[in-house]
Amino acid sequence: MTTNWPAWVLLTLALALGMIVTLRRRRAVLADRMERVGRPSDLKDAELICLERRFDISEPVRLSTRLDRAYRMPSGLVVLLELKTRNVNRAFRSDVIQLSAQRLALELKTGQVVAHHGYVVAQMPDGAREPHRVQLASGEAVVALVRRREAILAGRINPTPAASVGVCRTCAYRSICPDRLAR
Ligand code: SF4
Repeated sequence: MTTNWPAWVLLTLALALGMIVTLRRRRAVLADRMERVGRPSDLKDAELICLERRFDISEPVRLSTRLDRAYRMPSGLVVLLELKTRNVNRAFRSDVIQLSAQRLALELKTGQVVAHHGYVVAQMPDGAREPHRVQLASGEAVVALVRRREAILAGRINPTPAASVGVCRTCAYRSICPDRLAR
């Protein structure tokens, strides 16, 4: 009994390790399938090279970005994608600014060429995913936006009131803002 014990333990360990490896492989396959759900058809042959990674730059402006997903096309061009869980099936201007800032940070940090377009994938409450192709702002436009924000926060220039009631409705400053469009 005692002499068989090490072999029994080794066999159990080998079986357990085998199960762990199999489970991990299955999980990776499932994660890959899930990731491909809702991928824009343009990206079906692309390689996922970045998943939820942070890229910060300090020049020409300080910018902290967190990439949702970045794909490398067979041509080498990198395309960015943001997955958004929301009730409306659309992309917003804020998504475009977010992706544009990510593009600038990724290019400056890694030297990779990032496409001037990206994708916002809206995940609806029923789980359905719909991709929206968006045109990104230039690096210069992103730098100008960051500098404008800094100037507003420093009180050097006045902010422009929001153009839509919807923006004011969810704004944290609406209770004190004289320009608010919604209470
Ligand atoms: S409440 Fe004022 S600060 Fe907020 S979005 Fe509207 S206009 Fe801008």
